[in-house]
Amino acid sequence: MKVYLAYSFSQASPWPPEALGHPWVLVSADDVWNHGVNGAVRFLKQWIWPSRWPGLKLIVDSGAFRWISRGRLPNPRIVIETQRVLAAETGALPVVLDHPVRSPLSAGEGEYGASNEWTSKNSVMWQREFGDDYIYVLHAGSNTTLRRAVSTLRKTHPSVKYVGLGSLAPLSARKPRKAIQIVEKARELLGDKHVHVFGVGNGLLALLAHTGLADSVDTASHIIDASFGMAREPRTLSMVVVAGARERHKKREETWEELSKHCRCPICRTNPTLLARRGREGLIARAVHNAYWILRAVRAPAVAKKMLSKRRLDKYLQGRGSTPVCIVSCGKKKLGTPAPAQQLYSGRFFRAQADAAMRICGSKWLILSAKHGLLMPEDYIDPYDEKAKNPQHLAEKIKPQVSELGIERAISFLPRTYHLALREILGDNARHITGNPEGWKRPIGKIFQALKEIYERGFREFTRADASSFSNSLSSGTSSK
Ligand SMILES: [Zn+2]
Repeated sequence: MKVYLAYSFSQASPWPPEALGHPWVLVSADDVWNHGVNGAVRFLKQWIWPSRWPGLKLIVDSGAFRWISRGRLPNPRIVIETQRVLAAETGALPVVLDHPVRSPLSAGEGEYGASNEWTSKNSVMWQREFGDDYIYVLHAGSNTTLRRAVSTLRKTHPSVKYVGLGSLAPLSARKPRKAIQIVEKARELLGDKHVHVFGVGNGLLALLAHTGLADSVDTASHIIDASFGMAREPRTLSMVVVAGARERHKKREETWEELSKHCRCPICRTNPTLLARRGREGLIARAVHNAYWILRAVRAPAVAKKMLSKRRLDKYLQGRGSTPVCIVSCGKKKLGTPAPAQQLYSGRFFRAQADAAMRICGSKWLILSAKHGLLMPEDYIDPYDEKAKNPQHLAEKIKPQVSELGIERAISFLPRTYHLALREILGDNARHITGNPEGWKRPIGKIFQALKEIYERGFREFTRADASSFSNSLSSGTSSK
């Protein structure tokens, strides 16, 4: 599952995904439009742009909700123009307007909510501009509504590739089980289409991360929590107030010293006093820290379960099995200065592995390092030089980490020593991408070629069914298609 972290222009730079090196970002067309399209393109180029930041992928939301909350009906021409420029310049994926577009707005019309009817009507315009490459939005609070909406979709826009589920956020706050059941049903009804879930909170995100039900989600919770002075406590995984106590949240307070002691995010490792600061700097620091913990829950089933245990939702993940995590090896070539792991390893081979892994496992990937053992791509680390001595030695180092993170199954991209170390712990649940139980056997040039093929062939992101058929194809020795 890919996690798109929302970015808001008003909070500006340096912003959370950039600080973490995280490649998936959601921006809103109305935010972009506030700068004018050209102004926004200039702004984006300064901070987030594929040439500056390889692998960056954007979703451009229509921003309808915010237009309407300011008492205006969205103008589809402006939304499409904004999305068209970003799609052409960055390959961004546009989101159809799911709100009424009549103009001018008369009294009371601001209350018009999003609806499946408007999605279907407006999709005619989106289809004309973007073909099948846009996100068709569905709203469903029940399975009946969902079935009806999918049936309209099949009649009017059967070939659209991406379907986004809206309005699940309020439902998941009250009835998270119900919300995940709707996603489950959508997965079943939509078959091979890409299923995106809009605006998820931490609970639903943690539930979805290990079930393979959604292909992607977006969240703004890292920023919203941060704006209330809140941050994720690394040991209990509950939210605590770290800046400016606000009684109405009834949350425990905690100092930045305590928070940062147990966190490897770039803020806690470089400038943790920022966590407690008010104003923009503090907000961004808390957002980075919170986003780091969201991503940690996505990669580590044990973290997700612990995050869910207070609401007794962890049982939902129990016994369901978990989608595999992709594990790539660290690289020899490194930056000379401390950085998030995915940026510190600067060699081409590391990048090729990471790209291929993200293609298969979305945001659910880890790095295996001889010095540190298992690393989150965002873990902020110093440059070092250390090689794995032998599989047993490395296995001893990573065994406690594997159990702490709750890793049950892995797709390995690792060289021999590293792969054998992983197999010491996970046995056959650590599958090598080549199907070879000993890891890569081919010369480096061929391996490069294989990684490139994986990337270009573009496996749809793994659902649980994909993962099991992939595993079967590996064990029967056929092509890993
Ligand atoms: Zn932190």
